[in-house]
Amino acid sequence: MTQPAEHPETGRMEHRLTQVGAALDAFLHREADDPLPRRGVWGPALGGALPPSGLGPDEVMRLLTDLVVPNGGRYCDPGFWGWITVGPTTMPVAAMAAGMVAAPQRYSLTAFNALEETALRWLADLCGLGTRMGGVLCSGGSTANLIALGAARQWALEAVGEDPSRDGLSGRPVAVYASQDVHHTVHRALGVLGLGRRSVVAIPTDGAGRMRSDLLEDALDQGRRTGVLPLAVVACAGSTDTGAVDPLRAVGSLARQAGAWFHVDGAYGLPGILDPRVAPLYDGLDLADSAIVDPHKWLGAPVGIAAAFVRDRDLLARAFMQEPADYLDLGDHDGPVQCSLDTIGVNYADWGVELSAPSRGVAVWALLSEIGREGMRRRIVADNDRARRVADAARRHPRLELMMEPTLSVVCFRYRSGRDPDGVNREIVRRLLRTTPWVASSTVIGGAFVIRPCFVNARTRDEHVDAFMEAVVEIGDVVEAEQA
Ligand SMILES: *Cc1c(COP(=O)(O)O)cnc(C)c1O
Repeated sequence: MTQPAEHPETGRMEHRLTQVGAALDAFLHREADDPLPRRGVWGPALGGALPPSGLGPDEVMRLLTDLVVPNGGRYCDPGFWGWITVGPTTMPVAAMAAGMVAAPQRYSLTAFNALEETALRWLADLCGLGTRMGGVLCSGGSTANLIALGAARQWALEAVGEDPSRDGLSGRPVAVYASQDVHHTVHRALGVLGLGRRSVVAIPTDGAGRMRSDLLEDALDQGRRTGVLPLAVVACAGSTDTGAVDPLRAVGSLARQAGAWFHVDGAYGLPGILDPRVAPLYDGLDLADSAIVDPHKWLGAPVGIAAAFVRDRDLLARAFMQEPADYLDLGDHDGPVQCSLDTIGVNYADWGVELSAPSRGVAVWALLSEIGREGMRRRIVADNDRARRVADAARRHPRLELMMEPTLSVVCFRYRSGRDPDGVNREIVRRLLRTTPWVASSTVIGGAFVIRPCFVNARTRDEHVDAFMEAVVEIGDVVEAEQA
């Protein structure tokens, strides 16, 4: 067979990926830099009209490497500790790029389809879920919570003779019990599932940010008296505000007693179980009916990768099936499989809300293959250490105040202000973003505005953390003096 002449649109990858790789390396090694001051350049240059005829590959590459990449976000910077998000490490990026070409869909009997399953098994193992749970990879914690709570809805309503995914809801009142600090994607998932954001019963937390199981018990009693169906109890394994791990054994046991599904949202914090100092906090994880984890948070996978686990994937199929379609022969044919396309492979399409979906397992497999359980454990421990480093510095410094002992790698502290603590700390966070390489977000604890870095960034070193703490005090002193 003679090779056809290469059309530019299908040209060789190596040259182009090398160009992008070089631009990305330059981007990653630049000095701390924000794209906003140059918006007058890239905004108009990139905001034009659809070109009537093509610019050609060289010009597209030039724009991509000279104008787009250098004006990307600060997520990969070593001083980025905002919210719970971060830039990926290199191996999963390379793996993801490979999958985009070699297996753009996760289906059919390919190495990539197999790696979806390997990745799920390895994640379950890494995060202490053992071998009893099956799952599906999906786009993020939002989707993973939706999938897990969709399973909960199916399970709880099947038990009273209903099939909500097939027939819709009967209007039966239901309640979902969760910590007051539960992530709001849980509320949204319940909205999408037709159960309503208001079905969440918020359980207060204790001084360490953990759900109070005594108050959960009261709330479940109250619900029983009013005849509401206890659909699920949601526990945080690493809350977004404070990193708190709810008392899983107590909460899970109460869920069991009430006949409710027990869901553990570990989008951020489930890998925390690798740190032996905090591993005992995860006791009770074995009670979970479902659990989620976001490899795109603490594990450094590219954004767009989460995992939802349940005890029984058949339940997911009942909750999320599309019903058979003529356009999709899922390979339920007779006879042996003779080529990769004879079957869809492991059929993730019926276990969540996505049909077309990229091969994500390859990225998880790559990042875990690269450093193994031990390498990941070291990263998790180093990140937890950094939160304790901030806590120690805040405790020691006369003008700083630790607002809660860190559980995992989130730490909440603030500058002591005699006048307007909330206003001063809000201004500190803003100026950190604008004038330093350090990105720390904020939250509110017991009504107090606090500075809240979350360490999940593999590019961070301890000296960055020390410089950040100095910057907080320096800026705090200036802001406080301005207010006087
Ligand atoms: C981040 C987070 C989510 C949402 O995950 P996305 O990947 O951003 O959609 C859900 N729960 C917890 C605890 C989180 O930290």
